[in-house]
Amino acid sequence: MKTIGLLGGMSWQSTALYYRLINEETNRRLGGLHSAQIAMVSVDFQEVETHQRNGDWRRAGEALAASATQVEAAGAEMLLLCTNTMHKVADEIENAISIPFLHIADATAERIRQAGLTSIGLLGTQFTMEQDFYRGRLEQHGLKVFVPGAADREIVHRVIYEELCQGTIREDSRSEFVRIIKDLKSVGAEGVIQGCTEIVMLVDSMHTNVPLFDTTAIHAHAAVDAALE
Ligand code: GLU
Repeated sequence: MKTIGLLGGMSWQSTALYYRLINEETNRRLGGLHSAQIAMVSVDFQEVETHQRNGDWRRAGEALAASATQVEAAGAEMLLLCTNTMHKVADEIENAISIPFLHIADATAERIRQAGLTSIGLLGTQFTMEQDFYRGRLEQHGLKVFVPGAADREIVHRVIYEELCQGTIREDSRSEFVRIIKDLKSVGAEGVIQGCTEIVMLVDSMHTNVPLFDTTAIHAHAAVDAALE
């Protein structure tokens, strides 16, 4: 079994999910008392969020690249960046390490293609929904990507930072997300990507009939595949 490297803390709410999912899946496959070999560095999300808000992606990239080298030095044999948004600086991180980097959008796109879908809705932070680093990456896999309108993008972004990243789950926010998911379907999306690693805490397949693609679980399971191959 290879050692899985996690660069987490963005937010810690979803890093906790990664830790659980990777261990559960490893145990499901290997049985007994088996659990995953994990090396993790967890950062202070306030600092990352300040860089995001200031548009200071250069400093964010430098800080995360430095943290990634710590994960590698701790014995990791692959790296997962446990957030969709900060894949904006994926190149800086990949350049700083010599172990494989498992890109969350690649793993997600592969899963969607396996399911036979080609048109997909995307929910995430405004950075993820609006900028090319993520949408463009999905499009490179042959997917047609739909995002909500500006007002709904603002709602999704606000709920992520003001509620989900702080562990708050609100029924009214869940209703809004379910409505937005339905709207994406009505404009042509065959399914919707939960393209922020905390969204699964709020809305899951029990809340909607629209097929959902949970980036947290997809990314975590891709790591177990790579660790056990
Ligand atoms: N975890 C979220 C994501 O997957 C948002 C937090 C962040 O900005 O990194 O995008």
